[in-house]
Amino acid sequence: MNVNVSYDCDVIIIGAGPAGTTAATILAEEKGLKVIVLEKEFFPRYHVGESLIPHCWDTLDRIGMTERLNAKGFQCKQSVQFVNPDGELSAPFYFSQHTDHPRAKTWQVEREEFDQMMMERAREAGAEVREGVKVLDFLEEDGIIQGVRAQDHEGVTFELRAPVTMDASGRDALFQRKKKWRKRDPKLNKIAIWTLYRGAKRDPGIDEGATTVAYVKEKGWFWNIPLRDDIVSTGIVAERDYLYRDGRDLKEIYEREIKNNKWVEEHLSEGEQFGEYWVAGEYSYRAENCATDGLVLIGDAFAFLDPVFSSGVYLALTTGAMGADAVAKALEENDVSGEQFRHYGERVCRGIEWMRKLVYAFYDDDFSFKDVVMKYAEVRRDLTDCLIGDLMDRDYTELFDRVGRFAKLPDDLAHGRTVQSRQVQSVS
Ligand SMILES: Cc1cc2nc3c(=O)[nH]c(=O)nc-3n(C[C@H](O)[C@H](O)[C@H](O)COP(=O)(O)OP(=O)(O)OC[C@H]3O[C@@H](n4cnc5c(N)ncnc54)[C@H](O)[C@@H]3O)c2cc1C
Repeated sequence: MNVNVSYDCDVIIIGAGPAGTTAATILAEEKGLKVIVLEKEFFPRYHVGESLIPHCWDTLDRIGMTERLNAKGFQCKQSVQFVNPDGELSAPFYFSQHTDHPRAKTWQVEREEFDQMMMERAREAGAEVREGVKVLDFLEEDGIIQGVRAQDHEGVTFELRAPVTMDASGRDALFQRKKKWRKRDPKLNKIAIWTLYRGAKRDPGIDEGATTVAYVKEKGWFWNIPLRDDIVSTGIVAERDYLYRDGRDLKEIYEREIKNNKWVEEHLSEGEQFGEYWVAGEYSYRAENCATDGLVLIGDAFAFLDPVFSSGVYLALTTGAMGADAVAKALEENDVSGEQFRHYGERVCRGIEWMRKLVYAFYDDDFSFKDVVMKYAEVRRDLTDCLIGDLMDRDYTELFDRVGRFAKLPDDLAHGRTVQSRQVQSVS
C-alpha cells in the first residue's frame, strides 16, 4: 500500500525519557533524519529509576554520554550487595572483579539531571525536542499510524505527521493502552512504595555507592540507592495485599516496614526522610505486539520488568538504540510496515526473557545465587554477565538449565516479538 501525505518530519518520538532521547540522538546525528520529540513535562522533573547497571555504558558511549556523566559527579556505583532478612550483609559483588572494562564503574543518577542531560544531548544532535506538549492520540489511516494529535501547554491542539512514530511514553504506554495490548506478567504482581532520605548511614570507600537489596522474609525486598549530596533513594517492593493490610497511608506503611529488616532500620534511622512517598503498581507487563504499520514501541512503553536488578534504564537505552537502527533501516528501504520491526521485537524479547528468568528465580524461596555457583562453578561467569545487563544476542541456555534446578522458571512469553502489519511504503 502506498501512502501519499506530506510529512512534518521523518520520525516523531513520544516522550523524552532515556528511551526517547537515545533514539532521537541516533536518528538525528548518526542517520541524519529529521526528528521531533514531544514531551508532556517541562524538564527537569522527578523520575524514579536511579541505579544504572554496567551494560548501560555501551549505549551511553555510543551517544557520547559517558564522559559527560563522569564529569557531572554522579555517585559512582561499583557493586551490588544483598542483605538477608535478619539484616546480615553478604560480601558485595564488585563489577571490577568481573571485568576491567570502563563499564565496571557505573552511576547512581538523579533522574531529573540525567534525563535533562539526555534531552540536551538529543537537541545537540539535531533533534527538535518540544517540552510541555502532550500527545493525545494517534493519527491512524487504514490501520497505518501517520503521526499524532497533541496539545501544547497553552491548550492548543495540533497534528504532526511522519512516516514513523516511536512510542517512548514510559509507563503511560500510550499506544499499548489505546490498543489494549498490555499483558501483565502472571506472577510478578507487586507494588512499590518509595521515598528519599538525607543523612542516612553510608558504607565507606568503594562501597559508598553500592546498590543494596535487602530482603523482607517471604514478603519482598527493599532497595537502598545512595545518591550524591548524602541523599538515599529507598523503597520497598512487595505484594499489594501485604503492604496495604492495615490501610493505605504510605508513610505509615513505610515506617512499619523499615522495622522488618535490621540493616535498613539501622541505616535509615541515622537520616531524615524528606519529600513525597510514591507508589507504583502494574509491576511487570509487555505489549502484545512490538510494532504496527508506521509505529514501534521502545522502553517502558513496550515492556516493563520488576526492577529488582535495575534493568529498566538499560532496557530503555538499548531498545531506544535498537529501535532507532530498525527505524532508519525501514526508512531507507522505504517500507515502514510493522514487519520491519519483527526482528527488533524478537531480539528484545529474547534479551528480556533472560532477565525475567532471573527475576523469577529471585522470588523463589528455594533459590540463592550462592547455591547455584557453589554447585555449578561453570555458570558463574554467565550469571554475572546476565546480572550486569549483557542481555542482547547472548545464549544463556546452560545457565538457566542450572538455575532451573533450584527455582521454578517461567516459559518464554509468546507476545511482544509479534507485529501487526501490512506492506506500507513511506513515499511522501
Ligand atoms: C519503583 C521503580 C523503581 C525503579 N528503579 C530502577 C532502577 O533503580 N534502575 C533502573 O534502571 N530502572 C529502574 N526503574 C525503571 C525505570 O524507571 C524505567 O525503566 C525507565 O525510566 C524507562 O525509561 P523510558 O524512557 O522508557 O520511560 P520514562 O523514563 O518514563 O520516560 C517517558 C517520558 O514520556 C513522557 N510522556 C508520557 N506520556 C506522554 C504523552 N502523552 N505525551 C508526551 N510525553 C509523554 C513522560 O513525561 C516521560 O518523560 C524503576 C521503576 C520503578 C517503577
